[in-house]
Amino acid sequence: MAEKRDYYEILGVSRNASIDEIKKAYRELALKYHPDRNPGNKEAEEKFKEITEAYEVLSDPEKRAIYDKYGHAGFGPQGFDWTQDFSRVRTDFEDIFGDLFSDFFSDIFGESFTRTKRREVIRGSDLEYRIFISLKEAANGCEKYVNVSRYDKCNVCNGTGSRSGRGKVTCPHCHGTGQVTYTQGFFTISQTCRRCKGEGKILSDPCPNCRGTGRVRNTHKILVKIPAGIEDGTSLRLKGEGDIGPNGGPRGDLYITVFIEKDKFFERKDSDIICEVPITVLQAILGDEIEVPTLTGKVKMKIPPGTQDGSLFRLKNLGLPKPYGYGRGDQIVKIKVVIPTKLSRSQRKLYEELKEMENLNNYPNLKEYYERIKEI
Ligand SMILES: [Zn+2]
Ligand SMILES: [Zn+2]
Repeated sequence: MAEKRDYYEILGVSRNASIDEIKKAYRELALKYHPDRNPGNKEAEEKFKEITEAYEVLSDPEKRAIYDKYGHAGFGPQGFDWTQDFSRVRTDFEDIFGDLFSDFFSDIFGESFTRTKRREVIRGSDLEYRIFISLKEAANGCEKYVNVSRYDKCNVCNGTGSRSGRGKVTCPHCHGTGQVTYTQGFFTISQTCRRCKGEGKILSDPCPNCRGTGRVRNTHKILVKIPAGIEDGTSLRLKGEGDIGPNGGPRGDLYITVFIEKDKFFERKDSDIICEVPITVLQAILGDEIEVPTLTGKVKMKIPPGTQDGSLFRLKNLGLPKPYGYGRGDQIVKIKVVIPTKLSRSQRKLYEELKEMENLNNYPNLKEYYERIKEI
């Protein structure tokens, strides 16, 4: 597949464009490339699809935020499938253009973009699961299986809830009215039918497998693709992977919230990672080559003579991927100089000799302090 172009670029707007600017840009481009104005022109149709997709994402603050953070990876093949919802764009389109154009959405985008019909169905519940990944996995992206327990359609009755498959029948108790009336003395009393609980219909032969509910609970191993550079606490939406609705209603969504475990070495700061590395006083004084952990193994790093406690060194591109795929962050190595707490007699003697020889010229960075202290 060809590399996807940047949505902002497609609409020709800046990254901080207001919603009005985005609308305006879409309007102009849609007028130019609309299939009605370019009959039989495949290129224009592709272009129109492209701008409509860009508008679909950038006109929705929630999707735009995801796109700003992860770029196209945020709408990858699984878990981020937002592109189904074009009914909103269609409404916008009708607001902008009225009846200027023919009803084209279903023609060029197919089934999923047709006007959403009002149906008397209940959507299944959304589900939420949590997973924990390591910082390394967050850095490189990973795939995880999650065991999800959810309602599926009962195979025995094919979701109808009735053993024979004929579904609900008219309640014989209330003859389908849902109400039962009876006379008591002078009064006629109306009550909700107890047999069908007011629905007017009952299952005369409930399916033994699902006890008439039409759904059964199963556990599934669901593969979740976690994009590289994901932030702690991000919720991924897997559209249509939640519970199936009662009586054959559509599935809800599955949300996977991803938490990043605390790492032994690294602390994350946006796309950069920070790690503290201890060195000895003598390494700090004389300089040395030290081993430093990274997300992909160990690397050697030179520290110059005279390295101070708390010095920061930057290892380029060893951090996490940046949003929009613009390269990687860095690893920042923070030096911690460790003072020896045990010396042999001969070592102590040498240190003492060194102390005798030491003077303020050894510490240019201390001069200012001593000068200031003299004034007190
Ligand atoms: Zn009834
Ligand atoms: Zn059943």
